[in-house]
Amino acid sequence: MYTEQINKWVDGHRHEILAFNKKLVSIPSENRYPTGDEAQVQEVIFSTLQALGCEMDRFLPTEVSGLSEHPAYLDGREYANRPNVVGMKSGSGGGRSLMFSGHMDTVPQGDDPWSVDPYGGDIREGKQYGLGIFDMKGGMAAAIMALHSLHDLGIQLKGDVLIETVVDEEYGGANGTLASRLRGHAADIAIIPEPSNLAICPEAQGGSMFRIIFSGRPGRSFSGERLENPVFAAARFLDIFREYELAHLHKRSTSKFYVNGPGLPAYVQGMKAGPVQLPLCDRVPSKCEIDVWIQCYPETTEEELYQDFVGFYEEKSRGDEILREMKPEIRKLIRFLPGSGVPENHPMLNVATEVAKHYYKNGLPVQGAPFACDSFMFNLYSDTPAIIWGPKGGNAHAPDEFIYVEDFLNLVKMYALTMVEWCGVNHG
Ligand SMILES: [Zn+2]
Repeated sequence: MYTEQINKWVDGHRHEILAFNKKLVSIPSENRYPTGDEAQVQEVIFSTLQALGCEMDRFLPTEVSGLSEHPAYLDGREYANRPNVVGMKSGSGGGRSLMFSGHMDTVPQGDDPWSVDPYGGDIREGKQYGLGIFDMKGGMAAAIMALHSLHDLGIQLKGDVLIETVVDEEYGGANGTLASRLRGHAADIAIIPEPSNLAICPEAQGGSMFRIIFSGRPGRSFSGERLENPVFAAARFLDIFREYELAHLHKRSTSKFYVNGPGLPAYVQGMKAGPVQLPLCDRVPSKCEIDVWIQCYPETTEEELYQDFVGFYEEKSRGDEILREMKPEIRKLIRFLPGSGVPENHPMLNVATEVAKHYYKNGLPVQGAPFACDSFMFNLYSDTPAIIWGPKGGNAHAPDEFIYVEDFLNLVKMYALTMVEWCGVNHG
């Protein structure tokens, strides 16, 4: 019965739902490490949730006591005018509570050209485009619209529904998520609508970011000086990293949620040598720096990840003349993001799987997420376990980021039905 009502509401409000996505992506909220620009979009979330009858909380992460003393706190970020927003729709009592939590910062637009307006929210051939629409404004919009449907339909839940939008998740931030946990916002389960392509993810990977720095002897040999060019060492490093990338991809997890893949990605994300800010270069550079990001399964510790990578490099570089001479400095750039998950028999997995069967004949896959995010703040540092379950789309952290419209509307329906099934309905 609720399924039909919800389906009808979502189908009847299709334009309003997609317009809400458009509104969220039209307000830039780029993470400009160490600062960010989320205030304006958070204002829209605040007023939207308030209009749905939610009890509201809005606070800066730095207003939460105990944040900077917490072992998982990441130093070096600035939080002026970057509020978290939490809305709670109280249930009538006696039901399980459910939270949707997601970040409102997006990655910076970057230099690569888009074929559509990154802030336009345009719809073309079944896709809606926008910076952050997939990662992850769309997912949070789906949760808010799901709550909207129950509100309009007058469906009173027994358990509380919380919708939380946090600041500063990109670049391994997660202090916003930590601040909300320390503030006391909690539920029996949280769903993080990160872009999982509709997969229901009980676990997420973790990862580390390193800068590999080769230093040489810079200049030009006017007086017969022997120069050493670090770019040649970097070139050898890249060959070894390419081998590592392939080997890493085939490593298997002990977790059943990763047996069918996906494997572990490792990426070279940047490379610098010479005075790149100048229009011309005039010397052998003193340094060449390569930034890499390496993911790991939930069972892997920071030390194990580091040893795995460094061990591989040392083994491969041993016979190399250039690398033997020029040893790199390996610098940790951001905090280690641990992988994490919920117990494999968590009841939400069953609820979500059953709900999905209403919309996808073969159901939706239950598998580990192929990325790292802030879910570890829930699973390792709070009493609220978190799964990841979000929209289907593409081009996260790239031009022409999009979501698939029909799957997105299904997600709104599935979220609404999940609220009904998990929290229970008060029949008055
Ligand atoms: Zn994200």
